[in-house]
Amino acid sequence: MRWQAMPAIIGIMDSPLSIYLHIPFCRHRCAYCDFNTYTSLGELREVYGEALAREVTQVGQLAEAADSKRPLQTIFFGGGTPSLMPLHSLDTVLTAVADQFGTAPNAEISLEANPDTVDLAYLQGLRQVGINRLSFGVQSALASELALLEREHDFATVIETVTLTRRAGFDNFNLDLIYGLPGQSLAAWEKSLRAVLALDPPHVSLYCLTIEPGTPMQRWLQNGRIQPPDPDLAADQYQLAGELLGAHGLSHYEISNWARPGRECRHNLAYWRNEAYLGLGAGAHGQAGGYRYEVVKQPRVYLRRLAEALPTVFPLSAAVAHSHAVDEAEAMSDTVITQLRLLHEGLDLRAFAQQFGRSLTDAYGETVTNLLTWGLLRQENERLLLTENGRFLSNQVFYRFM
Ligand code: SF4
Repeated sequence: MRWQAMPAIIGIMDSPLSIYLHIPFCRHRCAYCDFNTYTSLGELREVYGEALAREVTQVGQLAEAADSKRPLQTIFFGGGTPSLMPLHSLDTVLTAVADQFGTAPNAEISLEANPDTVDLAYLQGLRQVGINRLSFGVQSALASELALLEREHDFATVIETVTLTRRAGFDNFNLDLIYGLPGQSLAAWEKSLRAVLALDPPHVSLYCLTIEPGTPMQRWLQNGRIQPPDPDLAADQYQLAGELLGAHGLSHYEISNWARPGRECRHNLAYWRNEAYLGLGAGAHGQAGGYRYEVVKQPRVYLRRLAEALPTVFPLSAAVAHSHAVDEAEAMSDTVITQLRLLHEGLDLRAFAQQFGRSLTDAYGETVTNLLTWGLLRQENERLLLTENGRFLSNQVFYRFM
């Protein structure tokens, strides 16, 4: 189904608006990756950039017709490897975004990059086209772990890239690391953390490895080449990370994210506050105008869809594959699960009651009382927050609101 009747619940209609733009190209597929990315379609990058700009224009025109246009607070190029895109293609897309929606004066404009895909000229070019925040997939500082993950860079390249990033004028960037790797000791994890902290990053994201179906890593697990990660060790690694990053002045503001004050990722904050965001590009997800939707995954199908002139309704471009109207139960569940991820803000109980016309306790009954009694949630100043224990067991907490 491409879309349904107008939704009954449009709680996020008036919230700030952000846009996610997916770039589905990589040079090589990492061993753990199940993202929507392709290693043999690099020759499509330029036409894909043009199609993405067309999709922006299409959604912008639908927004105009639906009286839903407002300047974008954040723009995020994710992937895949967006830093493989030619600068003029990024410029074409950003020009379409500015023409159609406008950007807020202090908009955050981010781009994900792999450390071995950028040089000083490219980084300076990114600044010129308007990118003001970068996010680098570092993943580890150890050669053996980077080899296991089948990443193409080494840590010396990361050090050089961070130097060039600063020289190009970026003072806002993130470094990603992965923990919970097969065979990764606590000491090895500490080495990666300390190596990354020595680069003094304003933002760090830490992800626990999940071995996804269909990846090389899952095959290695099945044939005994690697051992399954130890969840208790992963919990110790998470705790150690919190101590080291905190001691380094980085505040733990979301389950997987730490930042210096004022350097929190505003685009991801929009997700966690359950605000509206448009998702454009092959395989992107969006949530706006009372719909949740997903764009078709395959880049060639995406290009074909955008060449067709199909009738659509905001925010669904001709390339949207699936969509559904968000009903009240889903909107409540999304609000709780996303906002609880924010460790300082948590869930605003008054705003919840105002939006849904009933309190959280009315909506979820004993669930909230139980989680408070078990010490996984705490209430403070009309806000509900995860406790220390709740952070470790966050999936168990969220499951109870689904
Ligand atoms: S760089 Fe990222 S998106 Fe590309 S293959 Fe590796 S993990 Fe997947």
